[in-house]
Amino acid sequence: MLLLLNPLTYVEVVWNLGAALEYLSRMGCRRVLVQLPQGMTHASERFLSAVEDRSMEALLWGRPAYGACDVVDPEAAGADCLLHVGHLPFPWLTPERAVFYVPPTEVDVGAVADALADRRSVALGGPAGVLPWLPRVAGELRRRGVDAGICEGRGRARWPGLVLGCNFTSLLSCRGEPVVVSDGSFHALGLALLLGRPVVRVDPLGRAETVDPMPTLRRRYALIHGASGVRSWGVIVSDIPGQRREELASFLCRSIRDAGLRCWQVRVTEVTRAVDDLGLEALANTACPRVSIEDSPMHRIPILTPFETLQALRLAAGGRLSRKYVMDVMF
Ligand code: SF4
Repeated sequence: MLLLLNPLTYVEVVWNLGAALEYLSRMGCRRVLVQLPQGMTHASERFLSAVEDRSMEALLWGRPAYGACDVVDPEAAGADCLLHVGHLPFPWLTPERAVFYVPPTEVDVGAVADALADRRSVALGGPAGVLPWLPRVAGELRRRGVDAGICEGRGRARWPGLVLGCNFTSLLSCRGEPVVVSDGSFHALGLALLLGRPVVRVDPLGRAETVDPMPTLRRRYALIHGASGVRSWGVIVSDIPGQRREELASFLCRSIRDAGLRCWQVRVTEVTRAVDDLGLEALANTACPRVSIEDSPMHRIPILTPFETLQALRLAAGGRLSRKYVMDVMF
């Protein structure tokens, strides 16, 4: 059973742990697999105990979930139900008998509205935890004469206002200046890379900053240049269901070979430091695009997004770089 596909009904349920547990109970679950995101695994005992308090057995998935792209099938893990914490589901990747619980991020509605009160028109968005507050922020802004919108995105970001690290369509579907309401700058940086210009982020306490893509773009172009001289490539394909892009990987490997270079596909679950020691000189990553961007500093070899890989090939062939950086987005 996919719980409550109507976002409005869904919000009432999944932002409340008690209600999520009640659903699991009513579904007749006996063994519940608990899947937690990075940053919440330290609180695993709280979730496991809460499940057991409802007379269900609790199992813990032993790896933090990347996002809703990384939802485990409970049956494959020996459970009959899943409690996935921290993300809103992609309907096409949701196992039967799953409940999604998103702990809300406390947002100071007045302070966020204060930070944006001097704008004419804004589009509001943010990660799942802030979504319950966005309509109130928008209402407060409208009272102050600001045209504030919250729009539904496409594909994996189809919830009103939802922004993912790889999908910004909710902000781009709205008129008005896109504003990311979030704790960290991760989501705003992705949008800034996509747009090629600074993006405004307001944190839940109302502190605003401008996230500039230029420092990251400079690092990305340095990696592209570095990779333009290599002879052997690996193309990473993830076995995480919402990150697996087989066709793209085949296309990239073909393009690399057509350029007279060596290429092999590399199958992984996660892109760890171990990929540096595979004897390859550079990697094209078709898994989560943000892994290439965020984790590059910890790798000894270039790990490029698909667009960046094609740019490296173009440079290697004596061509010029594209004037526009293309952020790797997923639908
Ligand atoms: S692919 Fe990466 S950015 Fe996209 S939803 Fe998954 S973890 Fe988030």
